[in-house]
Amino acid sequence: MPSDNRKRAIRAYMAEHGVPYAVAARHIDQANGNGEAAHRHPRPALDFLADLPYSAGRGVDTDLATSVVAACRAGCPPCQDALIPRLLTQRPTVAMLACAVFGWLPGAGLASATTRAWQPLAQQAHRDGDGTAAFTAVADMTPEQVSELLEDALDMWAAGAADVHLVHLDDDPDDALDELAGGDLDSPPSTRSAR
Ligand SMILES: [Zn+2]
Repeated sequence: MPSDNRKRAIRAYMAEHGVPYAVAARHIDQANGNGEAAHRHPRPALDFLADLPYSAGRGVDTDLATSVVAACRAGCPPCQDALIPRLLTQRPTVAMLACAVFGWLPGAGLASATTRAWQPLAQQAHRDGDGTAAFTAVADMTPEQVSELLEDALDMWAAGAADVHLVHLDDDPDDALDELAGGDLDSPPSTRSAR
């Protein structure tokens, strides 16, 4: 991690958690280490994502995806800052995470124009069980567009959208949406909110 980024992350952590510099620095350095060294957030079980067709047969890093979702749900900026740049270099994994939420949602809500333009391909992947077109579009995105798509997807993951979907895999999607709407009325999706 470049030292400017490290300092910025440390300051952000100090502001967020009200801890001294040394404590924040230790947290940041741990978060930037290997998985073993990083401090842990409660990890959702996301290994099943690799079995979905959303990465079009490409290798995906479900461990990294799980770490990022965990950091977003925990509202931990230093972990997000450390892990998201790594995730952005793995477009099949980004496509997997994004399809897993935007594939079944009827709309992309407040998502970026990039995500709204891409969502029909995710819906097609979900409907047809073939993520090739959705992944290819992600592979062709500019770095800025991939970043926008991932940020939108992580907002949804942080809000628990995918979990609701999975609970209702055999049910009417409208029920899942009702539950999502009811459950999140008081806490709008945000990767930055502690949950
Ligand atoms: Zn953390």
